[in-house]
Amino acid sequence: MYSAEVLSQLRSLNHLTQEVASLPRESREAVLLLAQIESLRARLPNSILSYHDRLAARGRPSAIKVEGTTCRACHLRLPRGLLGELAVPGRFGVCPNCGVFLWLGEKPAGAAPAKEGA
Ligand SMILES: [Zn+2]
Repeated sequence: MYSAEVLSQLRSLNHLTQEVASLPRESREAVLLLAQIESLRARLPNSILSYHDRLAARGRPSAIKVEGTTCRACHLRLPRGLLGELAVPGRFGVCPNCGVFLWLGEKPAGAAPAKEGA
């Protein structure tokens, strides 16, 4: 498993990549963001970068926050075991269907683990 730091850098990378895509190519903001992207990429392991680039080439994010019990990239209902893993602070996982990195968002206050349905 990778460290939480790698995931947070990957999250930033996804965020900045989206931001930069919405800016005019030659704008000062875009240049600044590209510099930030470069410094983030320099700190990420190559395996993660090539993974990110493969997904980015298809216009997909490489890391996505889980809301509820489904992967928001492919809408697969995630296995209970994986959700349990993700509930551990600092852990993240990979969607067994689409391969995107997943992390769990903050739980709404007072939310209990869902037992019904499944
Ligand atoms: Zn998925």
